Amino acid sequence: MAALKGKTAIVTGSTSGIGLGIARALAAAGCDVMLNGVGEKSAIEQERAGIAKEFGVRAAFDAADLSKPAEIASMVDATVRELGRLDILVNNAGIQHTARVDDFPDDRWDAVIAINLSANFHAIKAALPLMRRQNSGRIVNIASTHGLVASVEKSAYVAAKHGVLGLTKVVALETATTAITCNAICPGWVLTPLVQKQIDERSTREKISVDQAKLELLSEKQPSQEFATPEQIGALAVFLCSDAAAQIRGAALTVDGGWTAQ
Ligand code: NAD
Repeated sequence: MAALKGKTAIVTGSTSGIGLGIARALAAAGCDVMLNGVGEKSAIEQERAGIAKEFGVRAAFDAADLSKPAEIASMVDATVRELGRLDILVNNAGIQHTARVDDFPDDRWDAVIAINLSANFHAIKAALPLMRRQNSGRIVNIASTHGLVASVEKSAYVAAKHGVLGLTKVVALETATTAITCNAICPGWVLTPLVQKQIDERSTREKISVDQAKLELLSEKQPSQEFATPEQIGALAVFLCSDAAAQIRGAALTVDGGWTAQ
């Protein structure tokens, strides 16, 4: 399948988890990719080279810290410089911190809002002029079920993800008469390092096995009692980038095993 051959994508936070799944799915569809994220240099280089080789695409890496707007703008510039153009922007990077509002550390609030919400705004602002010039583009924001409903101890994350859905709708309206679309994907539980940390914390807190903690986490929210996978999120992102999705605009598409159907 080479539906996206000749296209170029930035996937933020693609050194791990869902972002890596999306980058691999876009590359499998023939798209050149700019990877981004935090991690060990040699492991990232191995991932980058592996994607280029496996899918026969160009793959680059930019280490932009998404809490810094200037570095986001530089990453967009670097993509055009190194890969020639920018057709697809996937705002995926995210962090989590859990605590009751009463105890939520101010610096964690600021960091979650910066990386999960403000970075999307800055990346879209930097990418849109390029997309408008070529009158085509796809923006896919990775929100969450927590963009639609809430859970305790996740004030910053839930606020950021609700914000991402608001931003998605505004950008969709402001580009409605163009060939640029902006949509959000709302995953439920996906077994990535971000969620493994919450499983491990639960296992320690409740003095139960990691497997039991995993089962409890799923049972609480996700009726299918199965994790969604980075590959499934990647496949939906590829579909949103296809011509068939040209009239999907401002949508929040769930991949959540029934979480928000309740
Ligand atoms: P992850 O921890 O595996 O990956 C997060 C990525 O973001 C990593 O590549 C990391 O390096 C990058 N990142 C973090 N801080 C960064 C920074 N300052 N600058 C640049 N990159 C940074 O997590 P994940 O589960 O794959 O999460 C990806 C996205 O999916 C997040 O937005 C998350 O909120 C969302 N999401 C995840 C789940 C889930 O169950 N895993 C569910 C719903 C939504």
